[in-house]
Parts: sequence; structure tokens; C-alpha cells
Amino acid sequence: MDALVDRLDRIRGTVAPRNHNARTIAALTNNPGCGRRGLMDAAGVNKGAVAGQLGFPAAFGQSRFAIARGNAFEAQVKADGAAELLQLLRERLGLAIPEVAYDDLSNVGGNASREVRYARTRSLLARAAAERDDAGTLFDHPMLRLDIAGYFAYLEPDLIAFRVGGRFHVVEIKSFAVIDGQADPGKAAAAAKQSAVYVLAMRELLGELGYPPETVSHDVVLVCPENFANRPTATLVDVRKQLTVLQRQLSRITRLDKILDALPAGLSFDLAYDSDNNPTRPPDELTKAVSAIDARFSPDCLGSCEMAFFCRSEAAGSTSALGRSIRDDLGGVESVSTVLGLARGTLTPGAGQEEIAALLRMAHRLRTECLS
Ligand code: SF4
Repeated sequence: MDALVDRLDRIRGTVAPRNHNARTIAALTNNPGCGRRGLMDAAGVNKGAVAGQLGFPAAFGQSRFAIARGNAFEAQVKADGAAELLQLLRERLGLAIPEVAYDDLSNVGGNASREVRYARTRSLLARAAAERDDAGTLFDHPMLRLDIAGYFAYLEPDLIAFRVGGRFHVVEIKSFAVIDGQADPGKAAAAAKQSAVYVLAMRELLGELGYPPETVSHDVVLVCPENFANRPTATLVDVRKQLTVLQRQLSRITRLDKILDALPAGLSFDLAYDSDNNPTRPPDELTKAVSAIDARFSPDCLGSCEMAFFCRSEAAGSTSALGRSIRDDLGGVESVSTVLGLARGTLTPGAGQEEIAALLRMAHRLRTECLS
């Protein structure tokens, strides 16, 4: 693992790695066959900065307003030793004991390194799991990790893990509102998927210590503001389905060692920052480095990856840029110009293309008839 980490450090360059979070892992599983994203994420590369230097900046991620609102709501819920949250947890999880311990794991004695925080998280969760009585402990900002394609991705969740009835529950705090008992379905689905990432990471951690998966409940507690006020409300969300999908997608991510074996030695995405923190890496050199790794662009990338505009431009003219379902429908034909040539009859179908060529010609004929 150390040799792998060294190589990834060299690929990233001189800047500190960016940590994963549940959102980035959930996005990674949206396109498990993309080696480019897999490698850049594994190396902790700032994809947004690379895309900017390549000339394809992406306005991507949460707005500043959404981040500020999320932070304010989280601070409110956790204020005074998480008093408000505790009351909600008593209601939802049937917590009987009057007091709970509270461990803040955002740093360990002033040391915020992810390895030290992970070690501390592991030891505290191990101690809580071994206790017979319900310790009722809240763990604020634990550091977890997940094995992804052969390397450890550290997760820095804004969550509290809570133990009651001999089980841990993941608590996810989100700032989108629940109005009349209903949340935005897209946001609720994304929150459930992200919570599943945390459940899986906690199950891996406790599994290493010999505890069965059920030690971490598949019911996560989703805390959101209720109606149009900022009063929090908690809902139990069953993430079994998301866990199954996540595990299947993670197993499909191209293994890193395979990607690295195919790369030229010395490949780096270092942006060569000057003393004023401006990137100085020539864009054409960076383009060559990025293009050395296979990508699998699909329109979904536009909503989930900072490299999307670069990859879309690179994939222009290929059927994959039109989306997975269209690419599958056109099975075997890789370029849009070939599709058009087959449809118009100006190209002779190659071996294995006869069937799709006949379908394309028929579609073209129908279209022409409709338009005339
Ligand atoms: S935008 Fe590019 S790097 Fe990102 S997932 Fe899509 S193809 Fe991969």
C-alpha cells in the first residue's frame, strides 16, 4: 500500500490531497468504469483546479449559500452538547438514558491528520462496541475510510454515529426542508445514498474488529429542518437498497493497479503553483497528462464531476457522449459520423454492423417521411 500511496502522491504533485466525502464516493459510483476519475480521486487531485487550468472550468458543487446554510443548521443541531439532537434521538430511537457522552473527533489533541483521526475513531468505536451497557455515545466528525479499487479513501463525514440498543446508527444532518412530512425526492435519495456510504465504512471498520455487519443499523437518522422554520425533525431511513447498489458499484470500479500499470512513468497532474498560488503548468502539457488515462464520458458526468466539460469536449463526435442508453442501442458503432453514414447509406456496414445499419436506415427513412 505504501508504494501505491507514494505513486499517487507523485501523480498529485506538491499540494495536499483532497479528502473524499460520501458525496464524492456516491458520485464515483455513478461512473465506475471511468479510470480517469478513479485515478484522480484516489490521488486526491483537485479536479476543479485541473479543469480550470485545462481551460474547462466547471461551476460545480454546492453554492456558497447552500454550504453556509448547511453549516449553520448543523451547528444549531449540535449546539449545547447536541441537546436538540438528543431529544430527537430519544423520540426516534427510544433512548432511555438521560445523558450521553459526546466525543468530538475533528482533531486529536490538536492533530487533525486523517490517519490519527481514523486511529482515534477506530479505538473509540471499538470501545463503545465492546461495552455491554448502552454507552449512548455521540461521535462528532469521526474519520472513516473505505477500500476503493485497492486504496483507502478517507471519509470526513459531518455526522454523528450513535450507539443505542447495542447498535450504531448513522445520523446525517441535511439542510433541505421537510415540508408537511415530504422532502425533495432527489435530495432525499442523494442523502440516503451518502448515508449508505457511511454505513458501509462503519461496517468495514467494525468488521475488522470482528463485529457482524448488523452492529451498524441499516436505518439511518436523517435530520432536516421542518417546514419553513429551522426546527429540526428526524426521520428513520432504511438504506438497505442503497447499500446493495453501492457495494455492487464499488466492486465494478476499475482497479487502480491496472490503471497505473498502463501509465507512463513520471505522469503528474501537478499544477506547479508559484509563490502567489497561481498555477503555472502549461495547459497543453497538462492536457497530454490527463488524456493519457481513459475516460468514459456520459451526460451524467455534467452533474457529478468537475472534469465534465473537458471530457465532453474530448468525447465530441463519439456515441458515448450521447449517453449510456444511446451508446448501448448503437452497440459497436463508436462515432456519430459513422452512425450518420450508415443511416444515410453512404457507408457500407462493416462486419457485425449489418443489423444496426438496417435499423438506422429504417429510422432515417421514417424521419425523412415525417419531415416531408
Ligand atoms: S467527467 Fe470525465 S473524469 Fe469525470 S467521470 Fe466523466 S469521464 Fe470520468
